[in-house]
Amino acid sequence: MLDNASLLIGIAFSSASLMVALLIGWLNARQQSYLVHGAAGIGLVVLGLLVMGLRDGRYDLVVKLVPFSALLAGFTLIYSGSRLFRDTGASFYPPLVVGISTIALMAMPTLAGYSGVGTIMLNLGGGIIMFLCGREYWRGRGDMGLPMIANATLYTLVALSFFACAAVLLVEQRWVLDGPPSNWAEDANSILSLVGLTGIGAITLTLHHARAARRHRDEANTDSLTGVLNRRALFSRFRETDKVTGLAVVMFDLDHFKQINDRLGHAQGDLVLQKFAEVLRAQLRDTDIIARLGGEEFCVILPGLDVDAARLAAERVRLAFAALAIAIGDNDEIATVSAGLAIGGLEETFFSVLRRGDDALYMAKSAGRNQVHLAALRLVA
Ligand code: GH3
Ligand code: MG
Ligand code: MG
Repeated sequence: MLDNASLLIGIAFSSASLMVALLIGWLNARQQSYLVHGAAGIGLVVLGLLVMGLRDGRYDLVVKLVPFSALLAGFTLIYSGSRLFRDTGASFYPPLVVGISTIALMAMPTLAGYSGVGTIMLNLGGGIIMFLCGREYWRGRGDMGLPMIANATLYTLVALSFFACAAVLLVEQRWVLDGPPSNWAEDANSILSLVGLTGIGAITLTLHHARAARRHRDEANTDSLTGVLNRRALFSRFRETDKVTGLAVVMFDLDHFKQINDRLGHAQGDLVLQKFAEVLRAQLRDTDIIARLGGEEFCVILPGLDVDAARLAAERVRLAFAALAIAIGDNDEIATVSAGLAIGGLEETFFSVLRRGDDALYMAKSAGRNQVHLAALRLVA
């Protein structure tokens, strides 16, 4: 069997390679700051473990305080990384408070000569921080459930092994230690840390890659100006030959948009497009599909709505946009939108419904704009 010092050094090497992997991940995606927090945290843990593994029987103040503080500070950074992983805007203050208080609670008894109490505090602090890390992954399990739950479980197991180390010392009332503690809980803790670290490291990198892949896919499907779906995304959801019987489709086109650009400038024109997209999002349901086909043309799909409900929805959008009263001329002229509504007929293809929606839109334009026009029903299949 390996002795505890060899295990500690083994964990240190395994952690060091994980740290390098996280750093490489970060070099490829600098905005993912959780990778830096994780790598820096592991770096401190490696430092602590090396000092503990190499202390060679010595058990003076330095070989206790330095590695204990490094471990707690490292865990704190890993905790902060877990928070950032779940929410990129997470504040650093809660981890900072946890880190400072656990280090202080460990250092005070250690400095006062109660090395056993200090070691109990180290284990309690380590357990609490590991548990908090696990909680972050548990709370984030809604997205990518299985790996998040696996990470939460591993952190919890490591946390439990820290609590066991503290419990053994408490039960044995070891308030003062003359050497590093050696018992079943310490061994379990070393082994679980090694297993946990390798597992958590591999899972975290997998999560990182899965998330990056999803981000790229979302970016490829999103119109960067307005945040709604782009043309490509719409046509990957509905192929032109798909039969869309009963589906309500509305084509929107802003009125006199060329004038808006000419009078207010292209940048203001962009802003008007963004405002229109906001109106669509505000007036429609989350289940409705909103896409910008290009320029100032948008296509909206309203699943489950019949012709009357779809017409009301389109009218709501038209009125809400006009209500913004975006001035475009000298004499009270405001930005408005026209719409053409078509409902998929029997065996009708998506392409055909879009074309009828477009025809209806054209009618709305020629009838004076700022109105919703209903497409003629398709008579032949
Ligand atoms: P109508 O009422 O008949 O729809 O008139 P319109 O001026 O809106 O029609 P048209 O389709 O001819 O004009 C569309 C204009 O939209 C022309 C183009 O310069 C402008 N445009 C296209 N894409 C963008 C964009 O991304 N940003 C801005 N600001 N303007 C754009
Ligand atoms: Mg237009
Ligand atoms: Mg147009």
